[in-house]
Amino acid sequence: MDPQLVEELDSFARSFKDVANRFRLISKIGEGTFSSVYRAEDMEYDAFDNSWDLDRSPEGKRRLSMGDTLSPISKRQKKVGVGPRRKKYVAIKRIYVTSSPQRILNELVLLHTLSRCDSIAPLITAFRSQDQVVAILPYYKHADYRAFYRQLPLMEFKYYMKSLVTALEHVHLHGILHRDVKPTNFLYDPEKRRGVLVDFGLAERESVDPSYCTCRGYGENNHIRHITDRQPIGGYLKNDPRPGRRANRAGTRGFRAPEVLLKCLNQTTKIDMWSVGVILLSFMSKRFPFFNSADDIDAMIEIASIFGKPKISACSRLHGSMFDTNIPTVPDRGFTLEEIVDWAVNGTDVDETESSTRSLVDEDPEKDLAFDFLTKCLEVDFRKRISAQEALRHQFLAGI
Ligand code: ADP
Ligand code: MG
Repeated sequence: MDPQLVEELDSFARSFKDVANRFRLISKIGEGTFSSVYRAEDMEYDAFDNSWDLDRSPEGKRRLSMGDTLSPISKRQKKVGVGPRRKKYVAIKRIYVTSSPQRILNELVLLHTLSRCDSIAPLITAFRSQDQVVAILPYYKHADYRAFYRQLPLMEFKYYMKSLVTALEHVHLHGILHRDVKPTNFLYDPEKRRGVLVDFGLAERESVDPSYCTCRGYGENNHIRHITDRQPIGGYLKNDPRPGRRANRAGTRGFRAPEVLLKCLNQTTKIDMWSVGVILLSFMSKRFPFFNSADDIDAMIEIASIFGKPKISACSRLHGSMFDTNIPTVPDRGFTLEEIVDWAVNGTDVDETESSTRSLVDEDPEKDLAFDFLTKCLEVDFRKRISAQEALRHQFLAGI
């Protein structure tokens, strides 16, 4: 093992004695902006109950040190004299201290609330040591999206989508927005055709009393006043006296819905369905990431380059903003998503070596259903966008 990693695992075990008492750290499996995630063996897992013993105190247990290869036989196993204990693995998410206590609490509470769905990683337990917190989740074997998205036929990818939308239906029924739906937060095992949604670090409850945004459709007059308030007449104001708009924009670039980019103050669970659409678009076009802009303005241009200026202008007006651009590649007439995928898969700039993946989507008998589903997820007006519940009833997913 890399000596630096050995040192990291060791220092982790030193600062979290309770964790080290119970879990044998094996490797590091992920590193994000907000956490490091380790794979470990749960030494207190009772294979006979087929569950984790959540309440057992680590007191009196043998201290485990790094690299310890203990394979203890539980008392019950000893009594009945059966074979070796079945191992159970967990993912230990060490949340960086740079996350605010409120954020950490929010993630743990939401994980706990959502624990009862097979498509969501349940929280087993959590530990705190001074300002550090770790969350313990079951370990899920999964494949890297980039390793399979070019190979998988559309028929198989339907299982990915169904599993993801099932998880989101559960999240949304609880009135929660995940906010960061993307392949690294959905752990999918193509062999089992199952995935689990993880990372509720940015998730939040849908507001029951959202701040005012023109999209809430309050009186016509209000609507018009708000738009003209934000509309600079005859060019952009130099010293714009209007207060800036602040809205939750948390998420990952390339996966943010238009209303998030437009700083809507009334964001709903539909923002996650846009991200589902981005994943499907990336799968169908065999391009990942599909959108890659560095900031929100560029992200709007990317979206406008597909859907066309009039549609994006109307969407901006819905949220009380104005969209205009003189970039010549932003069309007046938008493209269909079939046209976009065709351009991405068969376009002139596609590397010749990729020809084996070119016809995958073309040949699929389900592709019309997939495009209909995709168009309903990537609807720029969130009010018309498909919900998770409706998506599960869509013919593209309903049959499996
Ligand atoms: P972050 O907030 O840092 O993005 P995540 O919860 O998304 O943290 O975890 C980061 C990575 O760790 C994931 O992309 C995944 O590869 C891995 N991971 C997280 N939870 C699990 C789990 N329960 N089982 C297996 N791997 C996991
Ligand atoms: Mg993540």
